Amino acid sequence: MNYQELVDKCKKAYADKDLKLAWQLWEELGKIIDKLDEIDIKDDEKRNAIFEEYHSYTKQFTDEEVFGITDYGKQKAYREMEFERTRGILDKSISLYDLTKDDKMKSLDDFLNFYEWCILKSDDKENMYMIYDLQTNEIKDYDENNGNKTLDEVIDRVVGRAVDYETNESENDEYIDDETFEYFENLYDIAKKYTIGDYDLWLKQFRQFIDDFKEVAKDKKICLVCGREKEDYQSAYCDKCWEEEKKRIGVED
Ligand SMILES: [Zn+2]
Repeated sequence: MNYQELVDKCKKAYADKDLKLAWQLWEELGKIIDKLDEIDIKDDEKRNAIFEEYHSYTKQFTDEEVFGITDYGKQKAYREMEFERTRGILDKSISLYDLTKDDKMKSLDDFLNFYEWCILKSDDKENMYMIYDLQTNEIKDYDENNGNKTLDEVIDRVVGRAVDYETNESENDEYIDDETFEYFENLYDIAKKYTIGDYDLWLKQFRQFIDDFKEVAKDKKICLVCGREKEDYQSAYCDKCWEEEKKRIGVED
């Protein structure tokens, strides 16, 4: 592709709101400037010729096009930087399963993943850990002991957050399946085993929440027409009733 074609395609991509493509083509255009690397630093004549060539193409863009396209490029670079940084932290993180070898702990690792927290070994204290919040880029509870916690304290903190999240903030009713039950039961067992201090009432409330949730789920597994148990929690009818219903209302597959 020659440079004029690049300009035309880049302007068209911008007009089509395809910023990703526009930015790729813009970067491609920047290769004119890369030619400077091959030219003697004192050869002003040749250097100027390259700048002029580049300018002859870029001046075909309006300010709005230039800002729109290069802002996208900046954001993209920023996102890549963020990703690198996050990955650096995740590479150092350690799973609760690895620390406990308790299979149920995988449920709490799933929560950490979803909630964008991770566990890091303490920088300077033996057998201590820190909880890192990947969204705010902060060590949790830093004002207490610089965020350093024992393993039990880490689990207590994470399972506390997970249970509060599931009972108060999440909209679980929409995603009922057997794995959700297992996940809740595992959280319950972990909370029972690891929470430090007096959490009897809190645990009782969570137990009640799980039992209520299971009641609701039971109703959702009943076919609305024949009342028999069906395969999943989402559909209203069992397969057999659905086939009949489709015939009745004349729906084709
Ligand atoms: Zn049925």
